[in-house]
Amino acid sequence: PSLEYELLRRRIGTNILEYWNYMSSEAEKLQKLLSNEVESHQSQKILTDFVQLSREHKRSLLNDFDQMTKNDGYENYRHTEAKALSDLVQKRLYYLQNPTDCATAKKLVCKINKGCGWGCQLHHMVYCFIMAYATERTLILKSKGWRYHKGGFEEIFQPVSKTCLDERGASMGAWPANENVQVLTVPIIDSLNPRPSFLPLAIPADLAPRLTKLHGDPIAWWIGQFVKFLLKPQPETQEMLDNGRKKLGFKKPIVGVHIRRTDKVGTEASFHSLDEYMRSVDEYYNQLEMVQYVEKRRVFLASDDPKVIDEARKNYPHYDVIGDPEIAKIAAVSTRYTDSSLNGIMLDIDLLSKSDFLVCTFSSQVCRVAYEIMQTVYPDAYNRFKSLDDIYYYGGQNSHNVISVLDHKPSTHDQIQVKTGDLIGIAGNHWNGFSKGKNLRTNQNGLFPSFKVNDKVEVANFPKYSHVDE
Ligand code: GDP
Repeated sequence: PSLEYELLRRRIGTNILEYWNYMSSEAEKLQKLLSNEVESHQSQKILTDFVQLSREHKRSLLNDFDQMTKNDGYENYRHTEAKALSDLVQKRLYYLQNPTDCATAKKLVCKINKGCGWGCQLHHMVYCFIMAYATERTLILKSKGWRYHKGGFEEIFQPVSKTCLDERGASMGAWPANENVQVLTVPIIDSLNPRPSFLPLAIPADLAPRLTKLHGDPIAWWIGQFVKFLLKPQPETQEMLDNGRKKLGFKKPIVGVHIRRTDKVGTEASFHSLDEYMRSVDEYYNQLEMVQYVEKRRVFLASDDPKVIDEARKNYPHYDVIGDPEIAKIAAVSTRYTDSSLNGIMLDIDLLSKSDFLVCTFSSQVCRVAYEIMQTVYPDAYNRFKSLDDIYYYGGQNSHNVISVLDHKPSTHDQIQVKTGDLIGIAGNHWNGFSKGKNLRTNQNGLFPSFKVNDKVEVANFPKYSHVDE
């Protein structure tokens, strides 16, 4: 397919949803207004019918869209290209990680024990790995005494190198250090200074033409490739994951739901009720059942709040609710970042990433990791999620901009004016048809219709590794 075709196809898919977000949210406002009026039965009936049929209309459009994608003759390309691109990157990482002489190899040392959860630590490792890739250095993970497993990363996952795990070298320096220094250390991403252009959300220039055609969320794919290389379970870990999956009865179709509660709520994220998550799950199955017989609606529920699993079983009896309250119980207590909780979080992320669709809050690194891994499971899973809060981001990322493709004249005081071609720094999507951001031309902050922009994929120059590709 041409790049234009693929971009347009995905844009249509995204904007069917944006159109629906807008219509349903406006209709809800009207419904509220009407419910206060006495003589409004007739208007209420019209509005209720309107919403109901529009919802069906949306499902039908999305199903047709999926059918079109399956039947446009390019599915084979998508699968082949996804594999080829992944193989290419994995080969480069393997090369980088296996220098012939570890004593003289250039290295980047990364302490994994950042004071935060597993998703956050994994993202710290990925950031180190991107720095290593960009500076052509072998990544050395330092993980002895790791809070999730005292014995270290290598007892749970395969070592990230077969030839070079020794952090020592003739000279050592902290970023940005002289490029000749043998061993480079880096701080956490938030403190990195100066900040190179190759940090997320940037993808490598040499891969950009192929990747932007293949994938609807190239940065999530790119991050996913580093996660894929890092997380190769040791046999025992693999066995734990396989047994866990079997024990839970994980099978398709299935929607993965991640509900992050405890310490996150009120500090870094707002509370969302189980019903809010389940509305999206219901919608997934309502759409699916239009084209396919579903014997049993199944949902995999992961949480650090054990109550929600019982709540789901009680309130959604027509669902097969898969989940382990014991895992959630361990996750909930303050000793969360310890040996006993690692298996649980690994299994939960594994199953979330293997689900057909993901419902969660992207404010949680757990869910963002699951989404990133999902990109290595499917050729392009850019639209297999519903986040109840944030859009996808990478903690500590460089700026995220969108480009407007249509003019916009504000119709309320909280909207901003936009001209085609304007760059807007995006802060978030309100999932009601509008996104929020700052127009970089006018410096105005405010709302704009989400369908009037396209994502701006950031591209940076990385080393090309062309000698590895043959
Ligand atoms: P964030 O705080 O949600 O952004 O994600 P982090 O991964 O950085 O820290 C949260 C930690 O809480 C996880 O790493 C787990 O240890 C625990 N946790 C949160 N949600 C779950 C869950 O659904 N299942 C399990 N097993 N643990 C969880």
